[in-house]
Amino acid sequence: MNIFVSGGAGYIGSTYVEQALNAGHAVTVYDSLVEGHRSAIDPRANFVQADLSDGARILEALKAAKAEVIVHFAAFALVGESMQNPGKYFGNNVGNGVKLLDAAVAAGVRKFVFSSTCATYGFPDKVPITEDTPQNPINPYGESKRMFERVLEWYQRLHGLEFVAFRYFNAAGASGRFGEHHRIETHLIPNVLKVALGQASQCEIYGTDYPTPDGTCVRDYIHIVDLAQAHLLAMEPGRQGFYNLGNGDGYSVREVIQMCEKVTGKKITAIEKPRRPGDPPRLVAAADKARRELGWQPKFPKLEQIVSTAWEWHRQHPNGYVD
Ligand code: UDP
Repeated sequence: MNIFVSGGAGYIGSTYVEQALNAGHAVTVYDSLVEGHRSAIDPRANFVQADLSDGARILEALKAAKAEVIVHFAAFALVGESMQNPGKYFGNNVGNGVKLLDAAVAAGVRKFVFSSTCATYGFPDKVPITEDTPQNPINPYGESKRMFERVLEWYQRLHGLEFVAFRYFNAAGASGRFGEHHRIETHLIPNVLKVALGQASQCEIYGTDYPTPDGTCVRDYIHIVDLAQAHLLAMEPGRQGFYNLGNGDGYSVREVIQMCEKVTGKKITAIEKPRRPGDPPRLVAAADKARRELGWQPKFPKLEQIVSTAWEWHRQHPNGYVD
C-alpha cells in the first residue's frame, strides 16, 4: 500500500516507517523536522520536509504519493509545555491535524491511523484502563488528543473516513536502527540511561509519596516495535475505532531504575524530588481489545527487553541523532 506518514522522523514514527517498509509498503514521510531528525528517516522512504500548517502542501504531497492510508504521528507531546503554552498544542495537534484530515478527504484517502494517548484518561477511576474508561484529560496535551479523537469520529460519520486511534501507554525501547532522541528529554528511561552513559551524575525520581507499593508512579512500558506493528494491523480495511496499546504490566519508577542498573551493570544514583504536576499515580492498560480484534501480539513485552534495546541504541548513539 501507499502510506503517508506525518511525523515519520520522530521517535515512534521512524520505527513505524522502518517496519512498514520491511513489510513491503511504499512510504512517504511528511515532517517539518522541528522535533524530528533527518537521520531518523529510513532512506528507503520518500521524504517531504514541510509543516502540517500548510494544507495545500499536504494535499499536493498526498496526491504525489497516491496515498491510500495516512498514519498521523506528528504532534507536540510535552505535558509540561502544554500547561505553559496551550495554544501551541491545540493549534498543532487539533487545528493542523484537521488540515491533514481535510486533505485526506480531498485526496480520497480511505484510512486514517492516529497516535492518541493514555493521557486522554487523566486520573482514571479504575486500573487497568479499558477503552471505555471515562476520558477526563488533565492537561492541554491530553485534551488536544481527545479533541482530535472526536474530530475523527465526525469525519468517519460525515465523510466515511475509516479511522483507528491508538491510545499509547509509555513508548520505550529501540528498533536497533532507530531510537529515542528528543531535543528536550523528559522521559524516564532515557534520562536514567544518561547516568549509565556517564552523561549525568544522577537521575531524579518525581515523587515518592504516591499510593503505590514503593511510593513512586507506576507506568505500563511498551516497546516501540510492538507499537509499530499494531499500526500495520490497523491498516486492514474494516478495522475501526479506539484501542489501548500497553502490556498490562505496571512498573514503578524505582523498578525501572533497578532494571536499568541490571541491564547496564552500572550503579545509578537517583535523588528524590517532589511530585511532577499532573502525574497520575498508576497508568496500566487493558489492551485485550487490540489483541482480540486486531490480532496484536507484543513481541517484547518484558521491561528487561525494552530497557536492553534502549541501552543498546544509546550506547551506539551517545549523542543521539547527528542531524
Ligand atoms: N519520571 C521521573 N524522573 C524522570 C522522568 C520521569 O521520576 O526523570 C517519572 C514521571 O514522573 C512518571 C514516570 O517517571 O511518573 C514516567 O514518566 P515519563 O515522562 O517517562 O512518561 P509519562 O508517563 O509522563 O508519559
